[in-house]
Amino acid sequence: MVTGTTRYPPTPSALHEAVDTRDPRYDGVFFVAIRSTGIYCRPICPSRRARRENRVFFASRGEAEDAGFRPCRRCRPELAPGQGPLEVVPRVAGEAVERIATGALDGRSVRDLAEDLGLSERHLRRAIEREFGVAPRDLAAELRLRKATDLLRDTALPVTRIAYLSGFQSLRRFNAAFLERHGMPPSAWRRAQVTG
Ligand SMILES: [Zn+2]
Repeated sequence: MVTGTTRYPPTPSALHEAVDTRDPRYDGVFFVAIRSTGIYCRPICPSRRARRENRVFFASRGEAEDAGFRPCRRCRPELAPGQGPLEVVPRVAGEAVERIATGALDGRSVRDLAEDLGLSERHLRRAIEREFGVAPRDLAAELRLRKATDLLRDTALPVTRIAYLSGFQSLRRFNAAFLERHGMPPSAWRRAQVTG
């Protein structure tokens, strides 16, 4: 049971808010049971929302049922996608990666991105690490480097411009990251591609 303090990332107020707004991102992440009716729902349930003091949160259907709650007939939580946090990882991670690829972590913190996505920083880190096996920062660095490498190979843009277009905060950082990966500076690597 999740009351007062949560056992997993979303804070109690985030859980209430997800229920109030029927936030689809939380579908499958948790379930909300209603003390007064003895039923439990998905956060997206179309039924009228119970008062906050009557809500009890669970991380899984099993926990809600063990506590004696029955599934709601409208939102059918027993058919909800996922058994809880684990199965929403790909969706959360996928959305995070899209944003990271378009610069969400360039000069910004993981916490900022988590806030954009309505998640806790810990939830976001866990989702990305589970899905991609790396920390969000490392994933961002990898995506920047890949983009830069593509641009070096496929365009004639100046190296400085490529560094910034790829999300590097300075040319120095770009050069350092590139050298570490490819063993030569960007301009030398580019020439090597051309001469084949
Ligand atoms: Zn329901």
